[in-house]
Amino acid sequence: MKAALLETEGRIAIVEAERPSIGPDDVLIRVAYAGVCGSDLHSFEGSHPFRKPPVILGHELSGTVVERGERVESLAIGDPVTVMPYIHCGRCAMCRRGRTNICLNKIVPGIKGWAGTFAEYFRAPAAVTYKLGERTSLREGALAEPLAVAVHSVAQGRVGQGDRVLILGAGTIGLLTGIAARQAGASAVAITDLYEYNLSVGCTLGFDAAYRADQQDLVQRIRADYAEGFDVLFLTSGAAVTVTQSLELAQRTARIVATAIFPRPVTLDIGPITQGELELIGTSIYTDLDFRRALLWLDEHVHPFERLIDHELPLDAAQGALEMLAGRTEDAIKVLLRP
Ligand SMILES: [Zn+2]
Ligand SMILES: [Zn+2]
Repeated sequence: MKAALLETEGRIAIVEAERPSIGPDDVLIRVAYAGVCGSDLHSFEGSHPFRKPPVILGHELSGTVVERGERVESLAIGDPVTVMPYIHCGRCAMCRRGRTNICLNKIVPGIKGWAGTFAEYFRAPAAVTYKLGERTSLREGALAEPLAVAVHSVAQGRVGQGDRVLILGAGTIGLLTGIAARQAGASAVAITDLYEYNLSVGCTLGFDAAYRADQQDLVQRIRADYAEGFDVLFLTSGAAVTVTQSLELAQRTARIVATAIFPRPVTLDIGPITQGELELIGTSIYTDLDFRRALLWLDEHVHPFERLIDHELPLDAAQGALEMLAGRTEDAIKVLLRP
């Protein structure tokens, strides 16, 4: 099968790889769409904590089942599916608490022989393979994974009725977090980003306010519109400056949720956290429940999720796609590869 292999930092080759063979509890999926994620970009640029070349990148996908192991009963050949791309051990201290997303022995695509989704075929355990809803297209199905990230972050931040929410970073995860916050009852969602394009997409999604992150008096401008501050703030860009901004714009008792991968350590003023009884909360991927909720929302079509997909390219163009994202040579939110 054809696959996009990250050979070394910054170089992807289209190679002929062995088609994965499946075990009795697995399915083989013919990949229709594979989403390019920020973490793929980290691997491409050499800044990913553990996913290093040579590796077939990708963990977001939609596709159809073409083979199933002898013990699989939940799925049939031809089913349109997506995959929750991690395997938890079920035995460690975190799994026993139901915190499977932070399993101590978690396996994800790109490590321990589990090849990624930038390929014609992808092997996955049936237990983490989900059938798409009847009204969900394969293109939309590829958004289930990033949407599940947003669903989990909003649950971690305990967004509730009437909360004012600020999202610092309006890429795929930031925008989906805004949607998830709305769905959870937020009365106002404001976003910041460096790019006009991302802010304009946020406006078409119906958010209440959008601010250029590189303006001098950003905090003052936001304060002029939201004098009381925000109840829940999401760090979705990984830029160090957003940490300070969030502390300045948080209302007392607010929750600040760290979603993005911060490439470097950040200096943090603890004072406002103490005085305002703020909470700084981490969030990492999703659980089965988050994933199922994401699939339901996709199928309900209340929100225009398709609006986030702005590039669809053949697998052969993987190198160009990652270079485009790394250099931001074009406006882009979600890029899908089509193996
Ligand atoms: Zn992802
Ligand atoms: Zn575990």
